[in-house]
Amino acid sequence: MKDFNAANNIQDLQYFGEFGGVNPSISDSSTYTFLSAKTMFDTFEGNADGCYLYSRHSSPSNLYLAEALAQMEGYESANVTASGMGAITSVLLQLCQSGDHIVSSRTIYGGTYAFMKNFLPNFNIATSFVDITDLEKVENAITENTKVLYCESVSNPLLEVANLRALSEIAHKHNLKLVVDNTFSPLSVSPKLMGADVTIHSLTKFINGSSDTVGGVYCGTLEFINDTKNVNSGACMLLGPTMDSLRAASILKNLRTLHIRMKKHSENALFLAQKWEQDGLKVKYPGLESHPQHEVFKEMMHEEYGFGGLIALDVESVEKANELMELMQNENLGYLAVSLGFYKTLFSASGTSTSSEIPEDEQKEMGLSPGLIRFSIGLDHDIERTYEKMKACMVKAGVLKGTSVTI
Ligand SMILES: *Cc1c(COP(=O)(O)O)cnc(C)c1O
Repeated sequence: MKDFNAANNIQDLQYFGEFGGVNPSISDSSTYTFLSAKTMFDTFEGNADGCYLYSRHSSPSNLYLAEALAQMEGYESANVTASGMGAITSVLLQLCQSGDHIVSSRTIYGGTYAFMKNFLPNFNIATSFVDITDLEKVENAITENTKVLYCESVSNPLLEVANLRALSEIAHKHNLKLVVDNTFSPLSVSPKLMGADVTIHSLTKFINGSSDTVGGVYCGTLEFINDTKNVNSGACMLLGPTMDSLRAASILKNLRTLHIRMKKHSENALFLAQKWEQDGLKVKYPGLESHPQHEVFKEMMHEEYGFGGLIALDVESVEKANELMELMQNENLGYLAVSLGFYKTLFSASGTSTSSEIPEDEQKEMGLSPGLIRFSIGLDHDIERTYEKMKACMVKAGVLKGTSVTI
């Protein structure tokens, strides 16, 4: 673990453009010529390393990005997709067949939840949703048909932290694959080092960081990645969630600054979370000692990248949440928008937005209050100034009692 440095791994990769450009050339082709008919046949059979076939399978630009992400996460290989959901669905459909079963954390991204709950049963694949922090419940949910244990290292939107070492022990004891969505904690957490078989990211979030595209990646063994790209049976090849080469090139350039951005997101988020807790607000942030899995996160993290940019703030009612968010947006403190990892702070009330796929009674059971605001803290230069301005909005929205503040 000491020798592993995800940022160095990315930096050590060098790609040049065709004419010595400092960025690799972008492959602007959907198809590729072969010098001989025999090579074309071999490539279709999957036996011609380094030959490109067709850009749904792979393209030079996509391979550059995939290689950098595989290095970042410490895997042999990776494949990039048109969205995070494109990665998640390809991985699950590759690992599970009719009759199989998944054990999943119940606090996961709404789209992933909806896919497992509503879509996979059409293919006779069942999912049991469990409290991922209760290892006994996790193990008890495993049946003889279970193939996958699925979780997010830091969950959306409640910021529960999965004990990846313990979960991978359980998974491997029962011969399951541990699949981890690491979207909320790039660089901070390296699931592979704790035994994850497959690590997924929505590149849409921190990794790209400029809210100008959707994208995804899954990392695993070379064998697994090749299986997903097999022309006869690969889930990703046949479902076709392919990333465009132009996008792969632009995401790779943004990936180059991820380490700097993550440090700043984490620094700003920790500052606000500590202040809000001192102000008596109900705040969840893995960097606070009050967070139930604070120690678990500390055990897993690469310290220099901090506890991440996400904070969950419970202001009790959806009305107060909405008023506060509108006030903050009017003060130019951030945008009322879903998604995360942007340079600007983004906030949304999870229960009525990104987690609205989860029925109300289940939201309640998992502790997702209607007044829960998920903040993705931006790269603000002066976070103290931001804090003061947000405080004034909180007083105005009745979230904080305070002396009269004018804004
Ligand atoms: C956004 C998100 C996804 C889905 O990714 P898309 O790029 O929107 O398809 C999956 N998991 C998590 C944790 C996310 O935040």
